[in-house]
Amino acid sequence: MAQIADLLAARRTVSFEFPPPKTPEALVAFDETMDDLARLAPDFVSVTYGALGTTRDTTRDVVIRVDKERPFPAMPHLTCVGHDRAEMTGLLTHYRDAGIENVLALAGDPPADGSDPGGDFTYATELIELIAEVGDFSVGVAAFPEVHPRSADVAVDRRFLAAKLEVADYAITQFFWDAADYLRMVDELSALGCDKPLVPGVMPFISVPGVRRMSAMNGSVVPAALDARLQRVEGDKDATRALGVEVASELGAELLAAGVPGLHLYTMNRAASVRQVCTNLGLLQEGQAGSPPS
Ligand code: FAD
Repeated sequence: MAQIADLLAARRTVSFEFPPPKTPEALVAFDETMDDLARLAPDFVSVTYGALGTTRDTTRDVVIRVDKERPFPAMPHLTCVGHDRAEMTGLLTHYRDAGIENVLALAGDPPADGSDPGGDFTYATELIELIAEVGDFSVGVAAFPEVHPRSADVAVDRRFLAAKLEVADYAITQFFWDAADYLRMVDELSALGCDKPLVPGVMPFISVPGVRRMSAMNGSVVPAALDARLQRVEGDKDATRALGVEVASELGAELLAAGVPGLHLYTMNRAASVRQVCTNLGLLQEGQAGSPPS
């Protein structure tokens, strides 16, 4: 297949992120969404991993299947908090032997009730060290344009991110609503000597309470202008979905104009919004391989 670091070096990528299906019905919906979005020929797709390993086998099985069935690479997200070394080594060996070449290496969140998760890992960098021991994977990591929600200090968080990117190939960001937050992070990392690709994550939202809840969880500020637009569509499903596409398209256009190395779209297992955003941005027209030149 292909290593994402090489794809990013060759062109501006467009990629899609999927949640892992947790029920047989969700698996059918996952396959339908994948079928639909595969026709756009993304550069790669990724599948998230339930905190503390709750979707470990599902993420593993769908990633390996998608990677084999499709012409583009599928990347597993992998969190290490609460896992021991032997378990992580086993999972990574399984991925390596199945031909998976890409991993998104994450710490993951400790239990919300404050209990000790156990295991051998605290930070994503420790997982990256283990990944390098197991195989020749291309390694992505998480970045938070507005600051990681458990970080008290932006400057300290940026230093940890720069150190993490010294041992990783690129980062994908958490969603955010203001391009200025992403561009500030790029500048701050550049000042620390870090020039690895930082791929912005863009979410075409489908629910107003969802936007508010996820933004609060991730420490993403909802700008007043967006909040006013959200209030106008709250309670109207179709209008909310249309606004989600509009906002993601506006943000995507701003980011593309700023010269981002790629766009990573959060699908939330819905093909229609992602398709519309791609159409609005002139990306991945059906039947056309790869993205247009940057
Ligand atoms: P780290 O990079 O380890 O950082 C965590 C915190 O520790 C930060 O505040 C950082 O500043 C600080 N820190 C880092 N190194 C050190 C150090 N040496 N000493 C002291 N402090 C340090 N979660 C899931 O459960 N499943 C997923 O599939 C998933 N996918 C994600 C995809 C993307 C693109 C993003 C942006 C996030 C995703 N997450 C996922 C969320 C992620 O697991 C959480 O945000 C988690 O809290 C931190 O993970 P991390 O990899 O950023 O951690």
